[in-house]
Amino acid sequence: MPITPLHYPLAFALSKTNKKLLLPGVVVGAVIPDIEVPFMWIFFNDLPDHLILHSLVGAVTVGTLLAVVVTWLFYPPIISTIFRVNKDELMEVCTPSAMLFLSCLIGVLSHLLLDYPMHWFNPILWPWVNPYDVVGPLVLFFAPFGPINRTAFWMANRLTSAIMILAWIPILVYYQNNDLWTNHWLGGSRLEPSQ
Ligand SMILES: [Zn+2]
Repeated sequence: MPITPLHYPLAFALSKTNKKLLLPGVVVGAVIPDIEVPFMWIFFNDLPDHLILHSLVGAVTVGTLLAVVVTWLFYPPIISTIFRVNKDELMEVCTPSAMLFLSCLIGVLSHLLLDYPMHWFNPILWPWVNPYDVVGPLVLFFAPFGPINRTAFWMANRLTSAIMILAWIPILVYYQNNDLWTNHWLGGSRLEPSQ
């Protein structure tokens, strides 16, 4: 992680690179790998808490599939209830499709991309490369300030989180008077043809 929701700004930006991409899929994909963390704490205490879903092979397969299912089944009811975004439109966008798979895949990969520089171990190439042999470049950058698994990791983590918080502000400001939550959770481009 940076704190899991802080993956949102990068997901949002990526969803804007192509009008066909589905923001809900990218957003869910971008947060889904972290659901393994509490699971690993509880059931596999002796293994790294980032493992399968934070590996390329796990992210592309299990992670993407999981993201599609979560987007399809849980995203519309939750987002429409909490943020009052139109549920029918959410359901339409979140129905499994090739584009939803692609959007989820991009989201999941964006999670790995953001986690990698700021973690002192990375299972990116698991099961072929030991996660503890892959230290994030940002952690290495801060290594002169202290141990990579404590001070350097802490600094890399805080810097990444701060950048993501700052990146979120313009999104909220830009849409504040223009259907904020619809643009935030559904994405604007997809709405235009049906209106
Ligand atoms: Zn993560």
